Amino acid sequence: MPADVVAIARDLLRCPSVTPAEGGALALVADILSRAGFTVERPVFSEPGHAAVQNLHARIGHGGPHLVFAGHTDVVPPGDEAQWTHPPFAGDVADGVLYGRGAVDMKGAVACALAAALDHLAANGGRPKGTLSFLLTGDEEGVAVNGSVKLLKWAAERGEKFDHCILGEPTNPETLGDMIKIGRRGSQNGTLVVTGTQGHVAYPHLADNPVRSVVRMVAALLAEPLDAGTDHFDPSNLEFTSIDVGNKTVNVIPAEARARFNIRFNDLHTQGSLRALIEARAAAAAQGARFRIDWEPSNAEAFLTAPGPFVTLVGDVITSVTGRQAELSTSGGTSDARFIKNYCPVVEFGLVNASMHGIDERVPVADLIALTAIYREIFVRYFG
Ligand SMILES: [Zn+2]
Repeated sequence: MPADVVAIARDLLRCPSVTPAEGGALALVADILSRAGFTVERPVFSEPGHAAVQNLHARIGHGGPHLVFAGHTDVVPPGDEAQWTHPPFAGDVADGVLYGRGAVDMKGAVACALAAALDHLAANGGRPKGTLSFLLTGDEEGVAVNGSVKLLKWAAERGEKFDHCILGEPTNPETLGDMIKIGRRGSQNGTLVVTGTQGHVAYPHLADNPVRSVVRMVAALLAEPLDAGTDHFDPSNLEFTSIDVGNKTVNVIPAEARARFNIRFNDLHTQGSLRALIEARAAAAAQGARFRIDWEPSNAEAFLTAPGPFVTLVGDVITSVTGRQAELSTSGGTSDARFIKNYCPVVEFGLVNASMHGIDERVPVADLIALTAIYREIFVRYFG
């Protein structure tokens, strides 16, 4: 009898684990995995100024290869519950569709990986030919301070060495099998601050208007592309999100003007090289104006898991189950893969992302069964 993925998913959805609450979700996973023979630990991480967060590490087997499934059991808030067709924490199934906050992001995929692991162990005498691990955090949707960053470090300090990772975030735009993520763009926020000299608007020669300079510098930064993209990445993009002077008067030339921006960048850049490039371009456009750029700290460097045997294995399995040729993509926002990549190659494949974070988040039961089959077949081919 294969494991009942729908029952596991429904039980998970009934846990109200809105970040940073554990909500019973990790306890449920711990129970399922320990009964299957996994060694399970649940480290709690804390830091002043942030809520303490529960996490989970489980492993079974010995030696290599060592595959880890990574993910999170926390969810974003449901919003106005009255707008949901089915209550967000009820785990209702209607017309072959499972409803609930986290159905696709990403308790559904966690349930699929659990069911696939139980099936694999049952078919192989209770143990993989290698090591299978789970790394689950309760702090992905929040500030991500007490989640994967600390969990990965904690595991490494205990001697855990992962060979490959599957992160079960929802990756498919429309249909299961559309897309594997093999990397992510980096993200960097900054503020261009131009300083002038305040004065009377009727006597501009006595003042130095920073609005003139900020407009010129913003235009210059938008005019020149950062790069032309790569085989696996779109061109990097600089996007201004706000231009602020905050001037309440009509007759005063302001002393300062600010322009905020975000850059999503590919692996032709690092945060360091990008900052240097932007500062040089800003200086060239400043024409003597006084300016500085305030850079915000960022933990999102661009990365790529180069196509190779592991990416091919995952892609082949997806094709064998869904009949689709999954696109290898680096699109979208950041994910915990940006932390995992420092420890081992990581690919992301999960459910269809169309309803994530929305009202009536939902997943067809057929997708849960198909994703379980995909993870199960990945285990079969990976462990040989
Ligand atoms: Zn997620």
